Amino acid sequence: MKTLIIANWKMHYGPIKAGAWIRAFRRERLPKDVDIAVAVPHVSLAAARASLGRASIPALAAQNSFWIDDGAYTGETSPAMLLEFGVQYCLVGHSERRKNLGETDDMVAKKAAALQKSGIIPVICVGETEAQNKKGETNKVLRQQVSAAIADLKDGGKVSFVFAYEPVWAIGSGKPCPAQRAKEAHETIRSVVAKKFGAAHAQETIILYGGSVDARNIGEYVTTTGVNGALVGGASLDPRVFGLLCRAAMPT
Ligand code: PEP
Repeated sequence: MKTLIIANWKMHYGPIKAGAWIRAFRRERLPKDVDIAVAVPHVSLAAARASLGRASIPALAAQNSFWIDDGAYTGETSPAMLLEFGVQYCLVGHSERRKNLGETDDMVAKKAAALQKSGIIPVICVGETEAQNKKGETNKVLRQQVSAAIADLKDGGKVSFVFAYEPVWAIGSGKPCPAQRAKEAHETIRSVVAKKFGAAHAQETIILYGGSVDARNIGEYVTTTGVNGALVGGASLDPRVFGLLCRAAMPT
């Protein structure tokens, strides 16, 4: 399975800077054996798409979606609208949204299912807080979040959803989760997927690690069994640094 690296700009870069980032990143030497996507704010999707032109690398991702295609939902954006920009992936349930915007497991499940149905691959973010980690509750939290998130997903027979294990305490903290601990968390996630979709499907499910990944430590993650790539926040903001990180993720 090909390594997948997804940049998450979070709430950075409006249309002008987004276009410049894409053009600068396109000048980087991009590894063929790594799938690369960039999750941009909704308002910057058009500019990112325009700067990409006919190029398909990086793939476009969104950071959020609603679960209904149209209607009286002021301020929301639907999977159908995201499709118009050629969005291929969409983050769902990022811990910043769970914490700051009250996104629940039920909302995450609805969003993931609606995206999958529309043909956009939901990238479902799960992970324990520092307090839960200290209490030894990591596996319990992951089992709960993952089983809730996949409740309405269908077995599409191919990669139609991705997980990102993002321990909340590792995000933006400069304290990445050791690769061996990430491996155990990924095994827990895979075991929950296996219960619903079977072992073969679980084996093919892409599970990313996210939390303080940079160009120096990416190699440890992508060479760890069961870690299929990374979701990258801070280290994706500079296109040259992100290019370096993508090259460092190349299989040796
Ligand atoms: C994230 O926002 O998903 C993330 C992993 O951020 P960072 O890489 O900055 O820890």
